[in-house]
Amino acid sequence: MVKCKHCGVFTENSDYCKNCGALISFKKERELRVESFKQQQIDEAKLELENPSFAIRLMQHPNFLCKIGGWILHSVFLVISAIGAFLAWFIAMVAAG
Ligand SMILES: [Zn+2]
Repeated sequence: MVKCKHCGVFTENSDYCKNCGALISFKKERELRVESFKQQQIDEAKLELENPSFAIRLMQHPNFLCKIGGWILHSVFLVISAIGAFLAWFIAMVAAG
């Protein structure tokens, strides 16, 4: 037996009030909250993936110093990927003899 918070009617063996249809199960309520929290985290992760990289976001920042930081980060990324590409090419050459 659970008392409805909204209308005060007691409902048995149900997650929802038999009178007004409000959610009255504490367990169900918690489950729903966990579910929406998970959904929120998924949305944030999606946003992270869809958004441009941190460096590019910094480059578009209105603050001049942040912009410079973004450019530096961006060039560092470029240099690292260039080195990575060179290493891959070098290893391939060595492996090919
Ligand atoms: Zn109710």
